[in-house]
Amino acid sequence: MSAEFDQALYLVDGRLAKIRGLVPRRLFDHDKVAEIEINDFFYEGKAIPRVMVVLRSTGCQHYADHQGCSMCAHYDGTTETPVKTESYLKQWQSVVDGSAIEGAKRDTFDINNYPILCLYNLGSLLNPEEVPPEAVREIFRSLNDLPRIKKTIIESRAEYVTPQSLQNIRDVYFGTVEVGMGLESVNHDVRELCHHKNMPDLEEFDQAVELLHDYGFKALAYVNQKPAFLTEKEAIDDAVATSIYALEKGIDAVSIEPTSIQRHSLIDFLNKRGLYRVPWLWSMREVVRGIYDRIGEDKQIDLRIGGYFDENVLSGSQGVAPGVERNEIFPLTTSGNCPECNPRMIEAIKEFNRTYDPNVLYLQPECGYCYSDWLKDISVVDKRSIPQRIIDTLGSRT
Ligand code: SF4
Ligand SMILES: [Zn+2]
Repeated sequence: MSAEFDQALYLVDGRLAKIRGLVPRRLFDHDKVAEIEINDFFYEGKAIPRVMVVLRSTGCQHYADHQGCSMCAHYDGTTETPVKTESYLKQWQSVVDGSAIEGAKRDTFDINNYPILCLYNLGSLLNPEEVPPEAVREIFRSLNDLPRIKKTIIESRAEYVTPQSLQNIRDVYFGTVEVGMGLESVNHDVRELCHHKNMPDLEEFDQAVELLHDYGFKALAYVNQKPAFLTEKEAIDDAVATSIYALEKGIDAVSIEPTSIQRHSLIDFLNKRGLYRVPWLWSMREVVRGIYDRIGEDKQIDLRIGGYFDENVLSGSQGVAPGVERNEIFPLTTSGNCPECNPRMIEAIKEFNRTYDPNVLYLQPECGYCYSDWLKDISVVDKRSIPQRIIDTLGSRT
């Protein structure tokens, strides 16, 4: 890599270390789940309810090794000491028997009523250092007793998708399992500097997709929309190119993840200083349009926009950290246009997620208040290299 790249990476590393140093003590109960949420999901041609369970977990290895990704603040919701197998299984049991549900819904909750289960751990469920393989195996073994769950979605960095981690599940469970992996950007400098992903070689991702298919899993790619240091237009083009790359590699589904402002992230740091704006919802529409333009309108693909589902939080108050009003894993701000058109655009994105029909986005009329601002934003050009932008932005800050 060039000296410029090395200097930029050094600056991002250093800034992230300072930001993470501001996170308050993370003294969570290891036996209580971080969150349970119900939302609508599109599956086999129709919208159905899915249950999302966020396990209170040890946390992403990437934080421990390299301060994590620049847009992510999952660190805030994870524990200071490793969560043991026994605690993971207690958490899971409290979901299965409904005792983790708060309020009146506790009596009627039955996880078996939700055909889609998202089982997240704010990191990689397939990393044995984060979730012991025994815990993973026991949880998947128990899914055999919940036959109305048709598909389980988990998350992992590509490097932990190994024959061992997949076989560990396949030894006990043969149902449909989808593994979501952060691809973020197909562009090396964007991925390594702007996202701070630490996945320098895309071969790692490509191999993970192949391996998942070999073991009968489905592969989902997360594509971050608008990392730090890109212009609005560059971010649109980058998300389109990255999604196309993933589809060409045989991915089963793509989830575009518009950047939200999460406390104690580099994005939050830049946003507070007027150096970052969340992606416009008009840009989300362009990303969808760009992808369909490339693959053809008539092609059926599993393309989602992450974070835009009607949600009903059933449990989460256990996760409130001292001094924080909302559950620590909720973002401070999500992507948006202006107050005038946000409600209808958000509804249109949710409708897209329910129907996979891009026309619900294309048919949205321009907004008299903000559309011209967005046009101005997408005409901004930055001729500097990505490393240079980072050096200019972070180099002079203490
Ligand atoms: S985005 Fe994923 S890989 Fe990156 S720090 Fe967050 S949990 Fe870890
Ligand atoms: Zn508007």
